[in-house]
Amino acid sequence: MPISNPERYTVTAALIYANGPIHIGHLAGCYVPADIYVRYLRASGKEVAFISGTDEHGVPITIRAKKEGLTPQQVVDKYYEQIDASFKSLGISFDVYSRTSKPIHHETSREIFRDLYDKKVFVEETTEQYYDETAQQFLADRYIVGTCPVCANPNAYGDQCERCGSTLSPLELKDPRSTLSGAKPVLKATKNWYLPLNKMQPDIEAYVNGHSEWKTNVFGQCQSWLKDGLKPRAMTRDLDWGIKVPVEDTEGKVLYVWFEAPIGYISATKDWLIQKNGTDEGWKKWWQPTNGGGETKLVHFIGKDNIVFHCIIFPAMLMAEGNYILADNVPANEFMNLEGDKISTSRNWAVWLHEYLEELPDKQDVLRYVLTANAPETKDSEFTWKDFQTRNNSELVGIYGNFINRAVVLTQKFCEGKVPQRGELQEIDQAALNDLAAFPARIAESMENYRFREALSLIMDLARTGNKYLADTQPWHVIKTDPERVNTILNIALQISATLSIVSEPVLPFTAAKIQEQLGLSGKNWQDAGNADLLPAGQPVLEGKLLFEKIEDSLIEKQVQKLHDAKRLNELEGKTVAPVKPEIQFEDFGKMDIRIATILEAENVPKSKKLLKLLIDIGSEQRTVLSGISEHFKAEEVIGKKVLYLANLAPRKMMGMESQGMILMAEDRDGSLAFVQPGKDVWNGGTVN
Ligand SMILES: [Zn+2]
Repeated sequence: MPISNPERYTVTAALIYANGPIHIGHLAGCYVPADIYVRYLRASGKEVAFISGTDEHGVPITIRAKKEGLTPQQVVDKYYEQIDASFKSLGISFDVYSRTSKPIHHETSREIFRDLYDKKVFVEETTEQYYDETAQQFLADRYIVGTCPVCANPNAYGDQCERCGSTLSPLELKDPRSTLSGAKPVLKATKNWYLPLNKMQPDIEAYVNGHSEWKTNVFGQCQSWLKDGLKPRAMTRDLDWGIKVPVEDTEGKVLYVWFEAPIGYISATKDWLIQKNGTDEGWKKWWQPTNGGGETKLVHFIGKDNIVFHCIIFPAMLMAEGNYILADNVPANEFMNLEGDKISTSRNWAVWLHEYLEELPDKQDVLRYVLTANAPETKDSEFTWKDFQTRNNSELVGIYGNFINRAVVLTQKFCEGKVPQRGELQEIDQAALNDLAAFPARIAESMENYRFREALSLIMDLARTGNKYLADTQPWHVIKTDPERVNTILNIALQISATLSIVSEPVLPFTAAKIQEQLGLSGKNWQDAGNADLLPAGQPVLEGKLLFEKIEDSLIEKQVQKLHDAKRLNELEGKTVAPVKPEIQFEDFGKMDIRIATILEAENVPKSKKLLKLLIDIGSEQRTVLSGISEHFKAEEVIGKKVLYLANLAPRKMMGMESQGMILMAEDRDGSLAFVQPGKDVWNGGTVN
């Protein structure tokens, strides 16, 4: 059963692998919603620990290290710094952003493993696993690739096929090969410790079924795992990068990354207290509140690819340990796509947070807004730069910014820059105040149910209410006849602005701070929102800069171009030089008559996309050649070019015309063509030997 309205919350956001930068898909899937939720809880006076960090073990780290020519430690140090800094710049308000390479995490993970080991929770099993004799290493997970048994993808990983999405084990791959050496692996016996999820299924089922309030995508995925029947899962791996198994005679073995990574939430909590107080005393109230008094609600924010680990495996571990609370909710999001394609790190198709922050400084809230308005809460959604621009220009500038700006500027103009005194209320004023009073509770309800899109749309409705109120009451006309009436109108507009700053703070923290500075509002929290007297009459209202600026087409075009350029560059980097063809003899080469020629005339061939019809001078005569270069060169560009020409190639018919011989071209890495020309102005007919 869900816990309702406790005073204390432990909120975690997924531990991300420290093997690359953060992109908008990560933000939309997990970090922005987590931050909104936590900011809302704090504003509501709750005690919150907001926990996250980097996952610094596992095969993806070592593979990245190999690719970048660094040690695994250098890789995680580099990306930890970058990820931590970009989260901070976006205003993600973690209480602690820790790392699983810290000693406190190793200790905590080893303690929990050892505890389960001593309680005889694990099943010891010796199995045959693939081993690379060249690299002298067992090949877990992504160290092995082969052909997918489901879709025949020749590059499926040992744990998953990225083409068809099947979960795999290395033994299921056809034609397996090591990603370390390329060698064909051999089978070798090794002992590992398994969490017997099959035996634990009834308890896990009871836990999951007690949470039918979970989002349907989360609850549904759990049900499908349970329906298939849970299988034992190895909690140790034969690897050298990770946390050593705290059992005698286990040289060369580490804890499975998905055993220890979620424990990272616990160790990060300890790390937080150590950094703050010099001791981890008090950590238990966040994880074992029966030992610390009161209820604590544990909420995991993650992306949909981690549901099984947070809803089944981690709770199973904690149940077996016995002292821990289990997640009350796991509001996992679906994926966000980008400009019509899946976001992909390996294909470099992503908007990277550190680059966004550099190229669009002071637009943190615009990104937070767009990712929330379009969040993949119940199904995949899509980010496009055009939509980014539209939402900024018509919603943030046109509605939200416009309302606040009008309220402040009119107060400067008509009320000497001070909150005016409210006079007698008309029906329209009372209606606006009633609306104002009702909004915070409605927004809170959406927040508490993890419906942040809905919360944001209500926040924007409040801004619309403010705009409509000003449009209907028209203080700019009324000022000519009834300044007292204008005082009432602007008092109400400013009170709406004050509440708007409080309720939008979780989504737009930078903007809310600016508004509160202008209005002289401080120390107010969610309980104050909706109050018609938040701003006392006479309080100065400061003129501020515009909260949001219009985004021009040129900026959007530049970003879209950049995406395509980065993807293309990435494709080129992946291109390799074609292998050398089988050996030939000198006589074979001697059969070819290659000469210097000059292009005299060129014209497009009707109805052909590729062909140019060329008239060339080969010294002894003129010849007609059809050349497949018209996608690369215009006819007028090639006239006068000196070229290499294969003179004795048998004539061929193309498009009803005869082509005599062939012009030789060089093909570049990106598929573009170039003429191959002699180093000096060699005469037509000169031979190439
Ligand atoms: Zn497949």
